[in-house]
Amino acid sequence: MERRYRTGDQMLVREINLSTILRCLHERAPLSRAALAGLTGLNKTTVSSLVEELIQRGLVHEVGLDSSSGGRPGTLLTLSAEAGLIIGVALGVDFVSVIVTDFIGQARWRRLQVTDPTAGQEAIIQLALQIVDEAIAFSRSNHSRLLGLGLATPGIVKLPDGFLIFSPNLQWRHVPLRQIFQERTGLLVLVDNDANAAALAEHLFGVARQTHHFLSIFAGVGVGGGLFLNGQLYRGVGGLAGEVGHTNFMLEHSRRPCRCGNHGCWETSIAQDSVIERVRARLAEGRNSLISRLMAEQESPLTLPLVVQAADAGDASAIDSLTETGRLMGLGVANLVSIFNPEMVVLGGPLSTAARYLLPVVEEVVQETTMREIGQQVRILPSAFGADASLMGAVALVVETILSNPSSVGRLAPDTVSPGKGVRKAVERDFRSR
Ligand SMILES: [Zn+2]
Repeated sequence: MERRYRTGDQMLVREINLSTILRCLHERAPLSRAALAGLTGLNKTTVSSLVEELIQRGLVHEVGLDSSSGGRPGTLLTLSAEAGLIIGVALGVDFVSVIVTDFIGQARWRRLQVTDPTAGQEAIIQLALQIVDEAIAFSRSNHSRLLGLGLATPGIVKLPDGFLIFSPNLQWRHVPLRQIFQERTGLLVLVDNDANAAALAEHLFGVARQTHHFLSIFAGVGVGGGLFLNGQLYRGVGGLAGEVGHTNFMLEHSRRPCRCGNHGCWETSIAQDSVIERVRARLAEGRNSLISRLMAEQESPLTLPLVVQAADAGDASAIDSLTETGRLMGLGVANLVSIFNPEMVVLGGPLSTAARYLLPVVEEVVQETTMREIGQQVRILPSAFGADASLMGAVALVVETILSNPSSVGRLAPDTVSPGKGVRKAVERDFRSR
């Protein structure tokens, strides 16, 4: 790709400085204007002017006085949760999940709908659009402005147009997701791969805050990866980096067919179906297991939640199947750790509900098979959001865009913004004035 030379006029410099102040507050609030000046190296007059603009845009508000420094107490600032609402959509292989959060990622409303992957692309997208309509209706009834909609989906997504190129597990090709959701809602819409989105959620709201080198593994029906390197998502030459589930290093005996069209991809050995297959094989051997009883009691097919429930009750077939999966997961994670030398590997997605069985084994394999110096530097943790990692990732796509471009959020009516007054009321008026 041709190198782009970045130049900047005054407007761009101001936007970069606004973004820096907003990020400082996102990471370390509450902070005073003096503390912000100290952290950023900007002079106090500039900081005051930038803060004033962020207050006018409803993104920041004053929360009280800082008397810790001993001198004249400064007013503390923090991000305003009430800056507006964000809609997150996770379009999964067998579910559609929609959440409405405030600006700091706190849930206000949510809906989960299990879907039948064979229902077809059109029906699943229509269902997602209907739930989004409900989310918008909720936001309106709450008199809050909507800051944007993020959507996370498995597969490779072309940025910035949010065009789904191919999703092996959904078997969808060439879907203009961003356009579809933008036309329906009129909102700012951002679309990304579920594992990339999950990595961003972990960085903005989860276990990888202030962590600049980490890998996020999102595992459920498939397995995706988000490579967060040098403080940002690494996307590769075509924006398609991180497809760790389709790396191929297993031995000949486990070269199962993968939905991407290849054989022996890592995800065929560790995704949730592989766990279920391992349990099924043990049951077929006639091993005495709690699982058959649970299936009968709950009139349920063999599912991952049921396997985890059996493991929690001490069932050996369930625990052994998860341990075996953990070892194969560990081999792949160890390779990634050797390549990237991350501070952290985070497991999210439906499979992370079994993290207490999987991760100790992953940790063990990583320590066994990587060079000691590299192995010692990495921590392996479950996502802060479990199965919701991609859903919170969808929200994070919008928050990240606002942190980068604060002036994309409109100013509130001037008479509604003054220190100490409820920003919520201001937001209400802004919405009504639309
Ligand atoms: Zn594959």
